[in-house]
Parts: sequence; C-alpha cells; structure tokens
Amino acid sequence: MKTYLIPIKLKSIRKNPNAGSEQTIIQRTPTIRFSFNGLKLPECLKDNENCFITEKNMDIASKQVHIEGILKYPLHSDLLEQLWGVDIIISQENNSTIITHFPEPDYFYKYEIIEVKCNNCKQKFKSNEFQSLDNDNDDCFASTETGCPKCGEWDCCSVKYEKIEDALKIAEEEYDRLHK
Ligand SMILES: [Zn+2]
Repeated sequence: MKTYLIPIKLKSIRKNPNAGSEQTIIQRTPTIRFSFNGLKLPECLKDNENCFITEKNMDIASKQVHIEGILKYPLHSDLLEQLWGVDIIISQENNSTIITHFPEPDYFYKYEIIEVKCNNCKQKFKSNEFQSLDNDNDDCFASTETGCPKCGEWDCCSVKYEKIEDALKIAEEEYDRLHK
C-alpha cells in the first residue's frame, strides 16, 4: 500500500512567542457593585433592568434604606451623572481566571495539501478533505483519521505527516544554502 507523505509548508512555520507556557489568563466581565443609603433608591436605578438588587434593609427609626446590588456592565456615563451627589458607593471587581493546559508548542505550522487516492473507490481528492471524527479546522493538526469523503471508507489510504523537527532541518539547510 502506498503511503503519502504530507509535508509541512516551510513558509508557514512560525515561532510561538508563548512556547512552553502552561497558563493562560482569561479576562471575564467585571462585576460592578453598589451600596446605597437613603430614603429610596434613585429612579435612574431600575431593578432587573440596569441593576440587580441583592440586599435591602430598612431602618424604621430613620426610614432610611440600605440597598446593595450589582450594576449592569459596562457602566454608562449618563447613569454616573444622574448618580452625582447620591449617597452611593460603586466599586468594580475585575474577574480573571487562570487556566492551566498542556505546554504550548514551540512552532505553529500548516501542512501542504496534496492529492490522494482512495484504495476502496479509487477516486482522487485533496488531503484536507479527509473525514474524521474530531474535525477541528486547526491547520497544525495532523489528522490520524483517513475517512474517504467520496465513498465513506474509514481507512481509505495510508498517509504520514511530516514532523516539525524534519521540516526545521530542511528549512535550516535551505537558509544555509541561500546565505553562503
Ligand atoms: Zn473512497
């Protein structure tokens, strides 16, 4: 059985600036909290519209209410203007999560697209048309599955993807040849 070798596009090789990194910080929507004291909540604040009340207490003697809640993000400047002079404290909490993952690869690269032939139906198609279960469109991804897009044969031909180490060696030799 013939094995097709799918080469890496030399010009597509890029150094990954985050090579080896195992953590990524993900910034999420900040939480804006408010704490109000007064006779009643200012009219510009509407529960379930531009804010969400989480706590409400009333002091019978002074008839004052204490309200705490969350303001909708982002905070608009005209709302801030309307709250000018009101006994309200607004604070913003920035939320970020650090996720841990496998170390990032040293290089990014793409594979050349070559023509292959199905051993079952004998039809020709392109190497980026293989059917696979995990069909993410990552160019770096060397699919281990070789489903024929024409007849559906699961293992329709034999392919081998060039390794990045081999491609780098070729790129280095080419560089030397051009700069001698
Ligand atoms: Zn086929």
